[in-house]
Amino acid sequence: MESSKEYIQQVIDKVKAKHPEKEEFNQAVTDVLTSLEKYLDQHPEVQDHNLLELLVEPERVIKFRVPWQDDQGNWRVNEGLRVQFNSAIGPYKGGIRFDPSVNESVIRFLAFEQIFKNSLTNLPIGGGKGGSDFNPKGKSDNEIMRFCQSFVTELQKYIGPDYDVPAGDVGVSKREISYMYGQYKRLREITPGVYTGKPLTFGGSVGRTEATGYGLVYFVDDLLKDRGDSLEGKRIVVSGSGNVAGHAIKKAQDFGGLVLACSDRGGYLYDPDGIDVDQVIAIKSNPNNTLAEYKRKGGQAKYVQGESVWDLDINYDISLPCATQNEISESQAQNIASSGVFLLAEGANMPVVKDGLEVLLDHDIIVCPGKAANAGGVAVSALEMSQNSQRLSWTFDQVDQNLQVIMQDIYQACSQAAKDYGDDKNLILGANIAGADKVFQAMLAQGLA
Ligand code: GLU
Repeated sequence: MESSKEYIQQVIDKVKAKHPEKEEFNQAVTDVLTSLEKYLDQHPEVQDHNLLELLVEPERVIKFRVPWQDDQGNWRVNEGLRVQFNSAIGPYKGGIRFDPSVNESVIRFLAFEQIFKNSLTNLPIGGGKGGSDFNPKGKSDNEIMRFCQSFVTELQKYIGPDYDVPAGDVGVSKREISYMYGQYKRLREITPGVYTGKPLTFGGSVGRTEATGYGLVYFVDDLLKDRGDSLEGKRIVVSGSGNVAGHAIKKAQDFGGLVLACSDRGGYLYDPDGIDVDQVIAIKSNPNNTLAEYKRKGGQAKYVQGESVWDLDINYDISLPCATQNEISESQAQNIASSGVFLLAEGANMPVVKDGLEVLLDHDIIVCPGKAANAGGVAVSALEMSQNSQRLSWTFDQVDQNLQVIMQDIYQACSQAAKDYGDDKNLILGANIAGADKVFQAMLAQGLA
């Protein structure tokens, strides 16, 4: 039998040979598998059952045509996708992304990450993800509605409250979830638990909107506490200005952090007095607005168009990338290290390119991987499913208390696994091992099903 290292490399090579063009998917598979080496040394059952090869093969990939009519009466078409990656620990669970960058590689990578993220929440949910290359920017409300209805006319064949439960992601929020659920209801049955991230009027959970951003900051706070430190007075830079970024900024400020910058697709906003987050959220409530509209009387705030927030030349302590995958290049990782950052926590999924991650680790920067640090969103989605099954609505405090405990447990599980497998500070390794262990054990117990 080959060594664990050789076995891992063989599986990575097979995936690359089979999907040479799916870069993001290969990147995510390589990241997870390479960090499992020491775990595999102690768990020969994984290699004995060839579990790695089973793990990287999605249970199902669904691809479909989404025809829709624009306001001028033209027929348009986009591609729809749902990857049901792994159901070992529960029904497939994961968001739907509407963005022109969506393709099968991106959805496979996100669904693959979701397996371990969902496992880390300790809630019974498997991994899935879906989306379309449809661009919601600049579309009218009616166009969005017609698109969502057409998308679900096909997707409804493959989802259900105990089978596959989609939610929001980039480009999909309450409005889109509502249109999708409305169409599901017409075609199938009245069962709000088939989608999470719903409005409060028909089964949504309080605290779901805030959960990813708040959870990210709870995770960082748990880590800092463990080191006898806190967020008080920490200088922070955030990327993005959507739901995750906005709520991360809010909670970081509640904990005494000074958030100096955030960004949107057009550029970045720098405010040395601390970002006025309510203004950012108000501006961004209309997706067609940009942060150029931000105003602060007498201050030195500025919006720099066409530049990345990761090229910002200031000193700060904590970086919170909350925009999208691979937003931080290798040279930007270098810039982050030169800015004095000691901790980077991923609000987005896989926001740092592979070589960039190496730069951060070489500079001893603590990296909190997205599958652990941003798991608060999907965790509260699972709490929404529980409330829907119970026919109850919990209070904000009940949800928020649960979220805090879940994030603390995730932090503990990752740091314990990192210690157990001999690389104490490496939370990437810790998250991958802690997340994968439960999935492997469930797959084995179910006869590799
Ligand atoms: N899209 C979010 C994520 O990346 C949430 C998924 C969900 O709530 O199911 O985890």
